[in-house]
Parts: sequence; structure tokens; C-alpha cells
Amino acid sequence: MKKYRDLVVHEGNQSLVDALEMSVLSLIAGRPIHVHVEGLRGTGKTTVVRAMKSILPSIERIAGCSYNCEPTNPHCPIHRNMESGDLSLLGTESVSIPFLEISHAAKLGTVVGSIDLAKVVDPNQPEVALLPGVIPRAYRGIIFVDEINRLADTSPELTDVLLDVMGTKPGRLQVEETGLPTFTLPVMCCVWAASNPDEEPGALEDIRRQLSDRFDFVVNMGRPQNHDTVKEILSGYTAEEESPRLQHGGFVPQKADVLRKISLPDDLSSLLAELYVGFGIESLRAVEAISLGARARAAMNSRTRVLLDDIRGVLAITLRHRVDGATLINISKFLDEYESRRGRHRDQDRTPDDSGDNVDEGQTCQQNSRGLARGGDTSMKPESLWDRLMKGMGLIRPDVSRRHHSLQERGFATGTGVSRGQTGHGRRYAAGGGTSIADPRDVDVSAPPGKAKSLFQLAGGDILFTEEDLRIR
Ligand SMILES: [Zn+2]
Repeated sequence: MKKYRDLVVHEGNQSLVDALEMSVLSLIAGRPIHVHVEGLRGTGKTTVVRAMKSILPSIERIAGCSYNCEPTNPHCPIHRNMESGDLSLLGTESVSIPFLEISHAAKLGTVVGSIDLAKVVDPNQPEVALLPGVIPRAYRGIIFVDEINRLADTSPELTDVLLDVMGTKPGRLQVEETGLPTFTLPVMCCVWAASNPDEEPGALEDIRRQLSDRFDFVVNMGRPQNHDTVKEILSGYTAEEESPRLQHGGFVPQKADVLRKISLPDDLSSLLAELYVGFGIESLRAVEAISLGARARAAMNSRTRVLLDDIRGVLAITLRHRVDGATLINISKFLDEYESRRGRHRDQDRTPDDSGDNVDEGQTCQQNSRGLARGGDTSMKPESLWDRLMKGMGLIRPDVSRRHHSLQERGFATGTGVSRGQTGHGRRYAAGGGTSIADPRDVDVSAPPGKAKSLFQLAGGDILFTEEDLRIR
């Protein structure tokens, strides 16, 4: 199995590596990010996912607890009601963060667990105990579901379990056995999943939209495009001192401490609220994912301050499975406009005290000038983000920007799916608006010659023409 340091990171898998690194950080910080990667067979999705095992740090747990109980905050049925004195007698141990897999052929009992009947009927000390399945054992760890589109198609009961586990943070797992009280456990883990939308039964969001929405990030895995990259992959091994991942800093678990300290600044919170309301985004999870993703991205870059660029950087992976392509493009344009408005505002109000902002952004650019540009980090122009977004979504860039601007200048509102009472610029771009609707004023209109007549008033010769008639005309 490939190790993280041996990964050849290229334009096709960069966003997956970034997303998984952010997810690991978020897990250590206690707010797991769920990641779904889509891509064709053979692009190396699972190789990248499994390589992340090698960077998972250790966690401290109550000795011998297969639920990975935190020594100071036990949650499992065995330890959660114990006195602290008894707990400290048990001692602690260090284990690596669990990484467990669920295949699409898995059985409910092995995934959830089952009631340990031997303990229940023990005459000396009867107790309800669980023989833990994959999910309880992955507490504070990672569950990987390969081919999740097939799982969603063939195992509705396992899909329901995942919906519960991923529905809230922390999630919950309910175990029901006939004749016994219902048994519930908290679940705190990252779910990573992979699928190939081109294979039966198709894309996850078409099979179970609800499950698709549970993923904070959806990443598209592409192919390496560069000749040298392919050669490097074929060589199969990167010498440690030449490893691009190590050279560029890669993953540092200490950044999780930074993530714990970061909160979203007020102006960016308002911006997300405006996106949610103005664009009629269906799921609140979408804006929660943008918020968490932007903070994780700031932490990855060792910043405690979240920038607008962090929101841009996670926009496509948090929204592409939740809104249609036109809305995503319009949201991106809206952010461009927001930035230029804010830029103007800042220019007008600038005082010597404000210069701190710029110093910070300058440092950011330097910090981020890693050999491989991390999605949108360097001093990225709106245009290039736009191009990347279009490319990432596999859309050809239509020549609509000029027309769109002319619509705005004339106040031609194209928002149709949003109620009139709403304010803010989101309304103008709201769902489905803009990109493909022609302004009637741009279209050449020619009226038919002569006044219109009812069909019944026309003679036969006015309706039917021979080829000869047409030639004469
Ligand atoms: Zn425990």
C-alpha cells in the first residue's frame, strides 16, 4: 500500500488530497468533515484515500476499550457510568486513529454491532452490552465506504444507518434487538466514500439525494494530464528526501490546534447567510460545510484568520452536489462582486490602522506559494478561479459574461425562483438565473409584413406554396 509521502500529487488528485487533509484535521479538532470522491475507475481514488492512513496520528483511549473512549469523557456503555476513580484504575493506552472499511456487500450486524447475549443473561452481573461493529469501533476515526453508490442502491438499511451517523455532529447509532430496550451510541467519525458515477447504478445524488447531502465535501477525481507526472507515478517510488509532499510541508497534525481556535468572522458569516437565503440553497448543511471547510482551509495554511479566498477555495466541493451548475456559477460571480464592493469600501475608508489587513494577505500569499497551488490560495484573480470552477465542473465557458453585465447595468433581474420580499444581490442571480437567458433587447426582432389575419380568412394559396411559388418570391 502506498504511503502518504509516496503520493504523486497532480492536478487530477490535488483537490482530493487537500480535502482529506482538511478532514483529518477536522477529525482531530472534533468536528469531522465527511468526504465523497467521485471519479472513473483506475484514477487512483482508493489509493489516495488509503494512503492517508499513514499520516493518522495516535489517540489516547481507556485501556482496552474497543469503542475508543476518551479517558476524560467516556461514551461507551461500559465506561460512561463509571466513577472517575474506577476509570483511572483502568489506565490509558495510545492507539493509532482507526481506519475501517465498509464494503457494499457488508451486513448490518457487522457494521452496527449486535447485543452481546452472553452478557445480558449473565446471572451474576447482567448488563446490556454491544458486540461493537465497524461504526462503534471507528469512534474518533475514519470509516471508508468504497462504491457507496452501489451500497445506496442495494442496502437501504445500511444507507439509513449512515444517514443517522452523518445526520448530526456527533452522529448517533441506534441498535434495536427484539425484546431489549433500544440502545443508542454517539458516533464521532469521518465518513469517506468513493464512487464511480459512470458505472451502474449511477451517481449517488441520483440514487439517494439525502445521503449525498450528508457529505460536506464532494471532490471530483481527475486524471494526471502531464507526461512527467505519469512517468513519476509509473516509477512507483519517490525517494524520501525528494518527496514533494514532505518538501511542501504536507500534513501537520498540530494544525488541528489552530482549527480549534478559529471562528468565522462576522462579515463572512453574514455573507454565508446571504448566500443561503438569496440563492435559495436547500440544505443548511451546505453553509455549515462552507463555514467548517473555510476554517479548515485557513488552519491548513497556519492562519487563524479566515479569508474570503478560503470560502472560494471550498465553494465547488461544498456546493456541486447541492445546487445546479448555473447557481454555482452565479454564486461565484456574486462573491467576485462582493469582493470588489468590499475592496472599494476599503479604499475609501482606509486609515493607517487598516494596513494590517494587507500585510496579513501578503504573508498569506508567501505561505501558500507551495510548488503545487492549493485550490485558489495564492493571489488568485477572480477570472482564474472562474476558469478553474468551470473546468472542474466540466463545463465549457459560454460567452455570457458581457451579456450578464449588461443585464445588471440595466437592472434586468433574472431571479425567478426566489420570493420578491428578499433583498440582497443573491436575488438577481438566484437559481437558474442568468447564464442562458437572452435579453430580449439584444435579439433582432422583425415583424411579419402586413397585418396579421385569422387562418380562416386566408385563401389556400396563402398557406400552401409550391416550389415554383417560392422561386418567384
Ligand atoms: Zn469505553
